[in-house]
Amino acid sequence: MKIVDAKVVVTSPGRNFVTLKLTTDEGLTGLGDATLNGRELAVVSYLADHVVPLLIGLDPHRVEDTWQSLYRGAYWRRGPVTMAAIAAVDVALWDIKAKAAGLPLYQLLGGASRERVGTYGHAGGRDIPELLDSVRARLAEGYPAVRVQSGIPGLKAVYGVVDTDDTGAPVLHQQARPLVEDWDTAAYLRHVPAVFEAVRAEFGAELPLLHDVHHRLTPIQAARLGKDLEPYRPFWLEDCTPAENQEALRLVRRSTTTPLAVGEVFNTVYDYQALITEQLIDYVRSAVTHFGGVTPLRKLFDFAAQYQIRSAIHGPEDISPVGMAAAVHLDLAVHNFGIQEYSGHTPLTEAVFRHAYTFTDGHLHPGETPGIGVELDEELAAAHPYEAAYLPVNRLHDGTVHDW
Ligand SMILES: [Mg+2]
Repeated sequence: MKIVDAKVVVTSPGRNFVTLKLTTDEGLTGLGDATLNGRELAVVSYLADHVVPLLIGLDPHRVEDTWQSLYRGAYWRRGPVTMAAIAAVDVALWDIKAKAAGLPLYQLLGGASRERVGTYGHAGGRDIPELLDSVRARLAEGYPAVRVQSGIPGLKAVYGVVDTDDTGAPVLHQQARPLVEDWDTAAYLRHVPAVFEAVRAEFGAELPLLHDVHHRLTPIQAARLGKDLEPYRPFWLEDCTPAENQEALRLVRRSTTTPLAVGEVFNTVYDYQALITEQLIDYVRSAVTHFGGVTPLRKLFDFAAQYQIRSAIHGPEDISPVGMAAAVHLDLAVHNFGIQEYSGHTPLTEAVFRHAYTFTDGHLHPGETPGIGVELDEELAAAHPYEAAYLPVNRLHDGTVHDW
């Protein structure tokens, strides 16, 4: 079998998605997600200009060899653009291999290690009463665990809280120019324990509660927050310090027993090396789409398993259904699965990417369709072309840029 066609499809059914579609001489097709939110077209060029010419004529069964040749052959290794491009190729090849075998991908990864995949959903409110309503809504949708994010008194816009305009309509964080949010670390640190206290008082001790700090604290601030949240037994504290500094988590770890989750902006196992071998974290959070695909993420999970660290694949709305499908196959197969982030997609996105995976009673299942189980409606995709969009930036009250 040979790859005879490779094309990159960019579509924006509400937000931008980049998809690689490979076709073989036997008529099999494979899809891979290459969406890098806010920098999408850099990956499009990487794929179309530099990778697609190398794929034509390749045997799609050679998944590992193709991964190694794209990773090592570029010489310029790692980085989000490179690894998103390689991820798309890797997942598309796994899709073809599984289709050729007549099996859903999870069967090629060792088969199911569980019956279904537990998830957490996002709850957010501009204040605590609005947050409690949002938690109630997620529980009504069946989610067994909830990430809680709240507005902070004195701040206009905060990560994880949907902003609304004067008419009450949601303001999308994807903008033609970056939306400017504001930040005050002291106000945040004062408010978050009260948020957890209110949610525990309303929903009891058993509900798993997660919280995302989005890389905004110094090590000593993160240590303080971890200690302050201990009475509320969070499921985890996510990305508490900036991702570039692995050493930061030594101080946090020494100071608190609150579980720590990191890695959504990591690209390779080397970003995790000290964190895993020194057991500084509890969950690895990389997405299939940004970590070079199923091949390296499976290896990361096996490495993490030696240290009792669990998987928790990044699953925001900007991971396309193609990337989500690949994640759910891995989730079902790996032994050290922890939890899967899942927000779902809009009906229009689900029409562009028809998928076999299902979400029932707060749990995902990849389905039994051979391959990853996603079909791309190219006509509908073409009807919704790329739109320029940026993620927000964050500024302190004096105008200084802060981590977003
Ligand atoms: Mg996050």
